[in-house]
Amino acid sequence: MKEIPKTHPRYASLITREKISQAVKNGIVHETGLIAHGRGEAFDYLLGEKTLPQADMAEKVSTAALLCAKSPVISVNGNVVALVAEDCISLADIIPAKIEVNLFHRTKKRIEKISKELSNYGAKKVYGQKADAKIPGLEHSRSLCDREGIYSADVVLVPLEDGDRSQALRKMGKTVIAIDLNPLSRTARSANITVIDNVTRAIPNIKKWGYKLKNFNKNELQALIEMWDNENNLRDMVSYISKRLNSLF
Ligand code: ATP
Repeated sequence: MKEIPKTHPRYASLITREKISQAVKNGIVHETGLIAHGRGEAFDYLLGEKTLPQADMAEKVSTAALLCAKSPVISVNGNVVALVAEDCISLADIIPAKIEVNLFHRTKKRIEKISKELSNYGAKKVYGQKADAKIPGLEHSRSLCDREGIYSADVVLVPLEDGDRSQALRKMGKTVIAIDLNPLSRTARSANITVIDNVTRAIPNIKKWGYKLKNFNKNELQALIEMWDNENNLRDMVSYISKRLNSLF
């Protein structure tokens, strides 16, 4: 990886770019993953590249939903594995949740590469290779998933999902938790809980909440989930961005 001085004002952002760029070279991230990353970066810039209190709350509620689930699954793609593979694995251990590889540009080779990468980081079992079930309402390869994984999950955490798939998961009756820096995306608007934060901050923070909330009883966690108003959350985020922009000039 390229040498980036820690004192550089954009250190975190440059390291993240470097990781994504390496992952494209290694075949983990599809080239269009670079474009998706760029869109994310632009929104992170508008948000001030930090976890806002409302995002922290969404991360807390997401953790509660994962802990209350019967069969929670963390759905990962190339970008997520390139950026936060180890944190996803430890989050899956804490909840406990399954991990499934789910790709927009699905090829057998890339699914295998990503699964191997997760195993190298210590994942005990990675779902997504069997592809023995389909999410109804999506065209061919994007609909593929594992029967024992996403297909039968009640709660699915989808960091960086596309709108069609998150809508299709909702139609299947699942609780969808999205992590997406863009509060305007179809994914953000169709999820039950939307975390407007960078996946590099969100997954470690959900993990932190996991340690804290694990000892709470189910009624307390359920109360947190019930009071969550996702539309209000998205409105707050858009309003934060517009106020911030107005205050800059
Ligand atoms: P939708 O189909 O939901 O309207 P889209 O077509 O804009 O979304 P994609 O290109 O499928 O989205 O996926 C990219 C999404 O992921 C963008 O909304 C972008 O903001 C978000 N994103 C990219 N990188 C990150 C990141 N590191 N953390 C969180 N979100 C990210």
